[in-house]
Amino acid sequence: MDAPVELREIDRRIWERELDDFVPKKVFDAHSHIYRWEFNLDPKKNEGGLARLVVPWYEQASFALLEQTDAVLMPGREVHRLSFPFPFAPLCDFDASNSYLAEQIACDSSSAGLMLVHPGMTAEDINRQLDRFHFLGFKPYRFYSANADAVHCSITDFMPEHQIEIAHDRGLIIMMHLSKPDGVADPDNLKDLQHLCRRYPNVRWILAHCARSYSTWAIERAAPVLRELPNLWYDTSSVCETDAIATLLKSVPSGRVMYGSDDLPVGVLRGKYISFGFGWAYLGPENHRLNLDHCNAEMTFTRYEQLRAMKRAADLLQMGESEIRDLFYNTAHELVTGSGC
Ligand SMILES: [Zn+2]
Repeated sequence: MDAPVELREIDRRIWERELDDFVPKKVFDAHSHIYRWEFNLDPKKNEGGLARLVVPWYEQASFALLEQTDAVLMPGREVHRLSFPFPFAPLCDFDASNSYLAEQIACDSSSAGLMLVHPGMTAEDINRQLDRFHFLGFKPYRFYSANADAVHCSITDFMPEHQIEIAHDRGLIIMMHLSKPDGVADPDNLKDLQHLCRRYPNVRWILAHCARSYSTWAIERAAPVLRELPNLWYDTSSVCETDAIATLLKSVPSGRVMYGSDDLPVGVLRGKYISFGFGWAYLGPENHRLNLDHCNAEMTFTRYEQLRAMKRAADLLQMGESEIRDLFYNTAHELVTGSGC
């Protein structure tokens, strides 16, 4: 099957005029999803909003489809990946998700996988799968929280300490999409990160989506705490605002921020994340009633909006070529090659 993603005139214009000279030739995508729609066990899945994004083109998000997508969106780039399953909620086939990931990721020795975990999994379950599949860490998700509150849960509600202890013992990565309305600025999240980083110093945490800071304020508030913690990394996946990315880059120690696409399917969607007040939301062609008669109202890929924001952040901070190569490749490559045992 050909890659379903196709470039339109607007995309070509943005890629050629703004992005082609910014994205380095070698890319390590630190945040990508490999899955099959059939692993979503929710009997009502085809009535939900996710089905509109996934069916039919992204029902089978294989490593090959990620390759095809990157070849269209970022032509001529060599791309390796840190990938994990899509965390279908509320019901997901964890075993099938993880074994499919392992099978897919095996085709590229420079790429690696993170195991989708549920807080109910025992240490024995997890160790067995780690031994079998050689995953480099875990992808927990707030919708699996033991207290059934995906909005207000604490880190250990969906990433319990018996699992963090395994990550510590084995030197693994934890891909953390923080919960709570204030995200990384929430004092309890910060307290938990301080406590967990000190107690389990061998864990390498990646705080996804600029520590879930789609605009500036949360990362600004959290920065004094975050910059003191040695085992934190960050990915820029799906963050589309320049000032959020620039603030992250200047607030945390250098060499800790990594490009991530959030594909599939977020990066290929047309639209972008926008922020306002203390909130943020996804704006796409079909979910608004704005009058856009005065301008070209077409939307490009979320990934292109994110790359535009990354480019402008890099310009603002006067980043050199080697720092940009770190952002797109070296930091993630070193994290992946230095993790696990
Ligand atoms: Zn994601």
